[in-house]
Amino acid sequence: MEYVATIGLECHAQLRTRSKMFCGCPVSTDAPPNRATCPTCLGHPGTLPRLNTAAIGLGIRAGIALGCAVQRHSVFSRKHYFCGDLPKGYQITQHDRPLCTGGALHVERQGEIRRHGITRIHLEEDAGRITTGDAGAQVDWNRAGVPLVEIVGAPDLGSAEEAEDWLRALHRVLVASGVCAGDMEKGHLRCDANVSLAPAGAPPGARVEIKNINSFRFVGKALRCEIVRQTGLLRAGEPVPRETRHWTGKDTAPSRMKEQPADYRFFADPDLPPLCLTEAEIEAERGALPGAPLDRWLLDQDNTRRADLRARHGLSDHEAGVLLAEPEVLAFFEASVAAGGAPSRLVPWVMRELLHCSKQQELGLSACALEPEALVELVELVESGAIHRGVARALLDELWREGGRPRALVAARGLGVHTDDEALRAAARAVIADAPDVVARLRAGRRGLLDHLVGQLMKVFDGKADPKRLADIVRRELEAG
Ligand code: ZN
Ligand code: MN
Repeated sequence: MEYVATIGLECHAQLRTRSKMFCGCPVSTDAPPNRATCPTCLGHPGTLPRLNTAAIGLGIRAGIALGCAVQRHSVFSRKHYFCGDLPKGYQITQHDRPLCTGGALHVERQGEIRRHGITRIHLEEDAGRITTGDAGAQVDWNRAGVPLVEIVGAPDLGSAEEAEDWLRALHRVLVASGVCAGDMEKGHLRCDANVSLAPAGAPPGARVEIKNINSFRFVGKALRCEIVRQTGLLRAGEPVPRETRHWTGKDTAPSRMKEQPADYRFFADPDLPPLCLTEAEIEAERGALPGAPLDRWLLDQDNTRRADLRARHGLSDHEAGVLLAEPEVLAFFEASVAAGGAPSRLVPWVMRELLHCSKQQELGLSACALEPEALVELVELVESGAIHRGVARALLDELWREGGRPRALVAARGLGVHTDDEALRAAARAVIADAPDVVARLRAGRRGLLDHLVGQLMKVFDGKADPKRLADIVRRELEAG
């Protein structure tokens, strides 16, 4: 039996504000534990929340960027649960009256643009952080009260790969709009993935939620694992229990049992009036975006930039797409062309060696010692046959770490290939004279033995010769002799 996956993602994005959602505490990652706190975000009795208008603005902007309807009236509610990371005993969030409803995220996949629904976007505050170590469990409330938007995607994704692309697209929109700084390492964007399996055509089965995944790759990995696990259960005729799981780094494991909605005892926060927005406040956020909806605008931008790269540098659609996805590499390519390099010669190097280096080397391309002029020189040296590809690759690694000019390095170390025809011919004659057996068999039709002679010659020149040129010379010497 084949099973179809139904996947929906819900993401928490940290808003790019200086202070917290309901108090003046800084949004800080470098403050010592529990120092970026005050009586309000610690939930002391008698304190009152004060709304951060910057956070509301960014929430509105997220909604416009994703093509949502921004509601003129929304309501903050209390969501109660007991956990050490929640000093008030409840989280202030938006429940039945969210800030934004009904948007979409357009995702390009293999040249095709797909529309995925956004169910809602609401504002809420983050919880603190609990860490467990040798000293037992420790709580840091610096994060408690940090402004978030929760973006709830419709369950219309069909595979782990689609989900991963969706999250990348969302991340791009949130960063490009200035809503979120987008540093995944710092947990700026965290994702819960819902997945259920069912035979094709049947309604979706039990929903399993994988909580708090904080990298694009992990979303893909966790969902792939979960789909395999659920398929195994269904094939064995066992039920898939509805539950909450988490990603361990290797697979998914069960977490606490899923609370029923009623357990949270939602009610409108009596300390916060309904959030009422004017048309002008909403329009001001639209004005802060280069285009709206921003996802479509970005995809249009990509098309324009792809076409521009094809026209200016003669790149293929594929090459342009790869470079656009790697802004640092693209910038370096453009700088190399500006430094006098021929795009057609640079492209293969940029696409292979430079991309490879930027993934392998410790230093990123923007911080490395390689200069665009040096890359241009290196490519010219290879293309003119002055050095070998292998030598060039080794040089590139060195230039990346230490900088310098390839032409000078090649001259100083004698890395150039031997190009003196007379010397090459003399060496060829010597190798031929040394191997009468091989030559006889070669003449009898064993053509492959030509490579053997060329190999001998390469040894004579320490590998610093052009094998094609040597093969030509050997052939000519054999014909002459
Ligand atoms: Zn505070
Ligand atoms: Mn939430």
